[in-house]
Amino acid sequence: MNPLHRMDGRLFLEEVSLEELARVYGTPLYVYSQAALTEAFDSYERALAGLPHLICYAVKANGNLAILQHFARLGAGFDIVSGGELARVLRAGGQAAKIVFSGVGKTEAEMRAALDAGIRCFNIESESELSRLNRVAKEMGRIALVSIRVNPDVDPKTHPYISTGLKQNKFGIPIGRAQPLYRQAASMDGIEIVGVDCHIGSQLTDLAPIADAIDRVLDLVGKLSSIGIRLKHIDIGGGLGIRYRDETPPDMTDFRSILISRFRGRSEEVIVEPGRSLVGNAGLLLTRIEYVKRGDTKNFIVVDAAMNDLMRPSLYDAFHDIVPVCQSGEPDLPCDVVGPVCETGDFIGLNRAIRAREGELLAVLSAGAYGMSMSSNYNSRPRSAEVLVNKNKIHLIRERETIEGLMAGERLVY
Ligand SMILES: *Cc1c(COP(=O)(O)O)cnc(C)c1O
Repeated sequence: MNPLHRMDGRLFLEEVSLEELARVYGTPLYVYSQAALTEAFDSYERALAGLPHLICYAVKANGNLAILQHFARLGAGFDIVSGGELARVLRAGGQAAKIVFSGVGKTEAEMRAALDAGIRCFNIESESELSRLNRVAKEMGRIALVSIRVNPDVDPKTHPYISTGLKQNKFGIPIGRAQPLYRQAASMDGIEIVGVDCHIGSQLTDLAPIADAIDRVLDLVGKLSSIGIRLKHIDIGGGLGIRYRDETPPDMTDFRSILISRFRGRSEEVIVEPGRSLVGNAGLLLTRIEYVKRGDTKNFIVVDAAMNDLMRPSLYDAFHDIVPVCQSGEPDLPCDVVGPVCETGDFIGLNRAIRAREGELLAVLSAGAYGMSMSSNYNSRPRSAEVLVNKNKIHLIRERETIEGLMAGERLVY
């Protein structure tokens, strides 16, 4: 199913015209398809059908309240990495009992908030964090439910910035050191062990490293069981890739085969933590061409979206397909699509074949994940609005920021 399609040469998302959205809400504008969110979630449900499971959406991919609310309605749990994300999930109607809390730097205040809410599990990333959580839980007269995030040391073969499961990464406990830590956890009054987890990286297009990681984790689960530590869940993390250009994303049927062959007949609940693959291809960034600077060998298309709106091209050299909203003829020279920010690294796409006309609209595709959530106010640019479409219905799910709003917390000294 592709919710993005053309009618008479004009782009629509579901039944809504992108030209119309730009006219009403302005640009740059993030636009998401509710049908695509649902379909992505259902594909995980199908992959896990028949196994006890919980799909915990990784909030950092896109934390808009309406998106969280939609996933909560579909039955999702949530993978959070901060107190801010905890507050968002609760505000959006997510159940605390379905929240897992990841991240290497949980503060005491974040631990307290999560214990107060009664989350399902803290994913522990270090010895020190475990001791701190034990102390905080005891002070509060609570028991903290934990899983230990192990680092299985497999190479996910993805971009170095988004690979997390190698020895040299800051995440998790080396799998070889996990057993003593589990023993220690088992002896702590404020701690109850409920699971194990791993997350080896992001934008994984090959399933072999995931299968490898699961096997290593299951090996550990067996060893723990033999010393009397039994787990309620096994969390295999997120990270399945999506198609941005010509990648072949993992096939969900193959993913299912891997899960079934490893987990059928086991009693532990399987948790997955997908982010990108639930929202990435459900969203696009709509932008208007301000200027076309013509050169001898290449043109620059200056658009009203910039690296502050979509950081992935500048940060990871990531590719996003860019298509005209109205088809209007053949491209002439190759184009760099750039923003107005004063940085050479401010580009959305390089060397593209796009017919460039000032005033026309472009859609930057696959921008639903790590787009709005990584946006900033660099160059004092108010962040974009966000719209969710459902068939012919349009929901404004975030207002465009105002310049007044940007300065609201600042104070003059004279
Ligand atoms: C970022 C992250 C995820 C989600 O990764 P995706 O590549 O977006 O699926 C899941 N779990 C943890 C611990 C993460 O840090």
